Amino acid sequence: MEHLPEVAVCRLGHRPGRDDRMTTHVGLTARALGADRVVLPENATDAARTARDITDRFGGPFAVERTESPRGVVRNWDGRVVHLTMYGLAVQDVEDEVRTTLVDDREPLLIVVGAEKVPFEIYEAADWNVGVTNQPHSEVAGLAVFLDRLFDGAELDRAWEGADRRVVPKSTGKEVVSVEDEPADSTPT
Ligand code: SAM
Repeated sequence: MEHLPEVAVCRLGHRPGRDDRMTTHVGLTARALGADRVVLPENATDAARTARDITDRFGGPFAVERTESPRGVVRNWDGRVVHLTMYGLAVQDVEDEVRTTLVDDREPLLIVVGAEKVPFEIYEAADWNVGVTNQPHSEVAGLAVFLDRLFDGAELDRAWEGADRRVVPKSTGKEVVSVEDEPADSTPT
């Protein structure tokens, strides 16, 4: 969102086959709920392709990157780090501190989500280890709730740039319109 510095999401690991849908959904959720960028493991080729394809069709800006070393991305991040973990401090207790720190210091935020067992160095590298409840669930659910808390709901009304199509909200049924066919002043803000 405009009043916050860059927000990036890093997926720590990816097991081809088993994690395909989850890693794809980390990318799509990061994009849909207001992050500027996702960094996926090098082997998550299909997930990266899907996130780029959706951005091309439904808009951005949103960047998709891959790295040989997600742990290196965390280690070398020049900014603040939130690690989402069921063992962390309650999101409702730390969200204000995270937001205020980012706004005051103008530092980018990296949000880290795991796949399989997360090494202890990630807990140590994080400025905040954050739990969305202290119950085990999913990186996609944790990411969605955390982003919505971070942006205080503003991401739900964001404008999308460069889309070639737009969904028209309907009480029933599906309607998708080509953005090129619309008058210039009809795009929702
Ligand atoms: N068993 C692994 C471990 O202990 O490191 C975690 C596996 S979990 C399926 C995968 C990821 O989901 C976690 O690394 C974390 O990022 C996220 N996650 C699961 N439950 C969470 C919670 N309650 N709050 C925040 N993130 C959560």
